[in-house]
Amino acid sequence: MFTQPIQNAYDVVIVGARCAGATTAMLLAGLGLRVLVFDKSRLGADTVSTHALMRPAVLLLRRWGLADRLEREGTPRIERTTFVYSDDTGSESVAVDIKPRHGVDALYAPRRTVLDRVLAEAARDAGADVRHGVQMLDLLRFSSGRVSGVVLRDEAGDVREVRAGLVVGADGRRSKVAQLVGASPYVLARHATSCAFGYFQDLPIDGNRWYYRPGTGAGAIPTNHEQTLLFTAVSQDLALGPAEERDNAFVRVIEQSAPDIGARLRAAKQVGKLRFFPGMRGYLRQPWGQGWALVGDAGCMTDPITAHGITNALRDADILARTIGSGGDLSAYQMARDDLSMKFFELSDRVASYDWDIPRVQQYHRMMSQEMSREEEALISMEIASASAA
Ligand SMILES: Cc1cc2nc3c(=O)[nH]c(=O)nc-3n(C[C@H](O)[C@H](O)[C@H](O)COP(=O)(O)OP(=O)(O)OC[C@H]3O[C@@H](n4cnc5c(N)ncnc54)[C@H](O)[C@@H]3O)c2cc1C
Repeated sequence: MFTQPIQNAYDVVIVGARCAGATTAMLLAGLGLRVLVFDKSRLGADTVSTHALMRPAVLLLRRWGLADRLEREGTPRIERTTFVYSDDTGSESVAVDIKPRHGVDALYAPRRTVLDRVLAEAARDAGADVRHGVQMLDLLRFSSGRVSGVVLRDEAGDVREVRAGLVVGADGRRSKVAQLVGASPYVLARHATSCAFGYFQDLPIDGNRWYYRPGTGAGAIPTNHEQTLLFTAVSQDLALGPAEERDNAFVRVIEQSAPDIGARLRAAKQVGKLRFFPGMRGYLRQPWGQGWALVGDAGCMTDPITAHGITNALRDADILARTIGSGGDLSAYQMARDDLSMKFFELSDRVASYDWDIPRVQQYHRMMSQEMSREEEALISMEIASASAA
């Protein structure tokens, strides 16, 4: 396909084109800004992440007309989440049906190969210049120190400079933009979860299933291609042992924490290899400065045990784009992000400590559910405020 060359200047250049970057690009291009968003990976490439979306994420995807598109791409509707709590004294299941509210009547867990591609295509449809196979090498600055653009290596391998009114780092937890601008974390988690996950056929399940047993977590999530994602989670301090032991450890944790799934595991067909994430402590970083901003994991990473990173990324893309669109001070973005992130972040850190018994983790889950309702209401209020200001 013929592509126009990358221009020399844009209103906004976004580094990273997955859930945070592609979404920010889609929203800013929708406001009429000239936007370049690029990623060093290829369109539709996978990444080390599971993919459960929480209600606030689905609310936004519905608003943007993308939830139906995910369904058309074969992403199953998830109408029930079951929490299974067990310890040596017994087991308790708590099933929560998704209550239709604010247009959300199901959750989704789209493969990242699907979600990130759909978001990138939506950014392109909104008018953003979307590129893959393009890597940011450095930032450009005015003599005042203000960021003024990026140095990138384009699809042909040529190194070039592109000017921008604002550079947005949506380049994930190892953000080079954050590193180059010196955006240091001002909140740091104390704990980190080590995860393993894989995909299985012939293992149908009724909605999301989350399993909690002192010391471990596990989950089963229906996803695209009629597959079920299984994951295990343990404290980073315990990890899952040496590489050759990890596959066995995965099966052991599933059998112990999720015996109903464990009993069906040997008859199911594993698709591809298991993937492992060694764990990394979460943080909140300073998300803006002179000529730059951070969105998604680049600015705020929450432990994966509570499956909220993509929801954060979509939410913060929405808040950042609104703030830019209203010509507002980016400190308003930071305030809103922190207000909606801090408590959930702290609760995730407590779950990631694995230093809980069942009543305590149930209490954390109730508190997280309240936080997600608050998050959903905040997103609705922002939309109403923007509509009445227009
Ligand atoms: C094991 C695991 C399980 C998880 N499970 C869930 C879950 O179930 N639900 C959930 O909501 N969240 C989950 N998360 C969190 C979720 O993966 C992240 O929050 C989410 O990916 C953040 O999106 P992002 O767009 O900010 O960054 P990323 O998805 O990390 O994307 C960053 C992009 O930037 C690109 N990039 C980086 N540097 C450059 C450069 N110099 N030039 C060009 N491009 C660059 C990268 O190629 C990458 O594509 C999980 C995370 C892990 C590790």
